[in-house]
Amino acid sequence: VIQRAYRASVLGVAGLAPVERLVRRHGWRFGARRFVAGEDVTSAVTALRALRAAGREAVVDVLGEYVTEVAQARAMADEVVTTIEALHAAGLPPVMSVKPTQLGLGLDVELAGCLAERVATRAEALGGRITLDMEDARYTDATLALLRRLWGAGFPRTSTVLQAYLHRSPDDLEAMLADAPSGGPLELRVVKGAYVERPQVALHDMPRIREAFTALCERAWRAGARVAVATHDAGLLRELAAFARGAELPPERVEYQLLYGVRPRLQAELVRAGRPLRVYVPVGKDWYGYFSRRLAERPANLALVLRGFTG
Ligand SMILES: Cc1cc2nc3c(=O)[nH]c(=O)nc-3n(C[C@H](O)[C@H](O)[C@H](O)COP(=O)(O)OP(=O)(O)OC[C@H]3O[C@@H](n4cnc5c(N)ncnc54)[C@H](O)[C@@H]3O)c2cc1C
Repeated sequence: VIQRAYRASVLGVAGLAPVERLVRRHGWRFGARRFVAGEDVTSAVTALRALRAAGREAVVDVLGEYVTEVAQARAMADEVVTTIEALHAAGLPPVMSVKPTQLGLGLDVELAGCLAERVATRAEALGGRITLDMEDARYTDATLALLRRLWGAGFPRTSTVLQAYLHRSPDDLEAMLADAPSGGPLELRVVKGAYVERPQVALHDMPRIREAFTALCERAWRAGARVAVATHDAGLLRELAAFARGAELPPERVEYQLLYGVRPRLQAELVRAGRPLRVYVPVGKDWYGYFSRRLAERPANLALVLRGFTG
């Protein structure tokens, strides 16, 4: 309960215009840079090379979300395509995570569909692929419809995210398993869920969210899917690694994903233990929403930033 109240307050305060202005002006110096690899693609390439040298793969998120104009959605798609090309030119696979509302899903479903196809076409042509991040529950249906559109348009490796806190996720998983394109395993990422949702929509107590997380991963693995376990929860990571070992899952069906800059020691331990680790790397100038959610996850992160502000 306390954790949920903390998250709701941080995200509530972050939504206030004066706070946003202040943090946008000074937040980079006081903390955003810990969670964001760079404000431009050149610095991202440097970060990705360093990750590779440390035995980690990456999935790149060009920051941006909830765009309010068609021109912004088109500009975002251009930026994602430019990033894909720059990664490829640097010899790095363009494995991308895209937020549907950055491509205009909240404005016009058809526009978002066309832009997502454009991004997926470029990524796949250059040896990469895309995952559709899952945003707040207003967009779950539309995101799943977008996923099916991309599957139908010839991008069967496109994946999305199941949020363990949503009551609907077990049903969404069954529907995805039933509709998944033939010719390869269903790919998905499982997370706890980062948004503030109503109790009618989402679980609020952590033990039940953790149980739901485990159940989703195990069900998906049993049904033949390729699952990215995306959490910094060391207990869950241990439990699911034990399941994967016990079920003798082939290595290509199991991946661990953690966020850039979060729990670096845990990331190093995973690599040392030989677990396939992909780091989610945000890049770009529009880091405010992403940064706010990271602060909302952990009081110590907020304390660090406030200490910076107050000297
Ligand atoms: C690769 C990846 C992709 C994601 N994609 C999505 C998505 O598409 N949609 C979505 O809703 N959510 C997404 N999330 C976020 C996710 O839903 C959670 O909000 C986030 O991962 C925090 O939950 P946790 O599972 O790490 O567990 P928690 O119980 O929050 O944390 C476990 C441990 O990690 C530490 N920790 C957690 N977060 C932080 C942090 N920010 N800084 C420092 N320490 C921290 C905690 O202090 C605790 O010790 C993603 C997360 C990851 C790792």
